Amino acid sequence: MRDNSSTPEERLRQVQRQIDQALAQNRRPAGAAALLAVSKTRPASDILALYRAGQRRFGENYLQEALGKMALLDGYEIEWHFIGPIQSNKSRDIASHFSWVHSVERLKIARRLSEQRPDGLPPLNICLQVNVSGEASKSGCRLDELPRLAAQVATLPRLRLRGLMAIPAPSDDPTAQRRPFRTLREALEQLRGDGLALDTLSMGMSADLDAAIAEGATLVRIGTALFGSRPAKGDLLP
Ligand SMILES: *Cc1c(COP(=O)(O)O)cnc(C)c1O
Repeated sequence: MRDNSSTPEERLRQVQRQIDQALAQNRRPAGAAALLAVSKTRPASDILALYRAGQRRFGENYLQEALGKMALLDGYEIEWHFIGPIQSNKSRDIASHFSWVHSVERLKIARRLSEQRPDGLPPLNICLQVNVSGEASKSGCRLDELPRLAAQVATLPRLRLRGLMAIPAPSDDPTAQRRPFRTLREALEQLRGDGLALDTLSMGMSADLDAAIAEGATLVRIGTALFGSRPAKGDLLP
């Protein structure tokens, strides 16, 4: 997935170039898809290397790990995005430390995030995670439940509902990759038709970035292509 001899700066430029090319190929405006660097399992020094190369948005999946890195990187102008599963007892720290949450799939969690968002901070940006792979996935709200959930979340005072997020089942076939992304885009268009002011499609990872941009991604979440492959789960220290 990456050339080990390349520097973080070079990998950032390469991913940025891939995004720019995919946008141009699909006749979308330059800059229409932003890069979220997914830094889970990576040390703060890796984040700093990309920061120095100009990257500002970083995504984390595990709260404790993220809080440790935030403490080390205090004072840097990083926009932190939470993209992992949310347990209720973690919602307060997520509401206080992040600018965005991409992985909201239940009203109960959205309510807690709104109640717990500190007053001095701007509203917390929210994407609803949608299950676009049917039985192949356990996470994300069901498509038929989405309109109701979106309407309810949109009324919560300390949140700003921005759009939708999905993690489709992996596929090597570019045509098959596009299908779930198209479903997510159509769901976003329908919610807009219902009157919600949404601007974000958070979709596309290292292996399906081009397919996601072809279907309208505005925020791609990239880890491996920037940082190299992560250790297998069994290799992680406890
Ligand atoms: C890990 C992760 C990514 C990045 O995946 P890569 O394949 O490493 O680019 C994106 N989104 C979510 C929700 C993730 O957990």
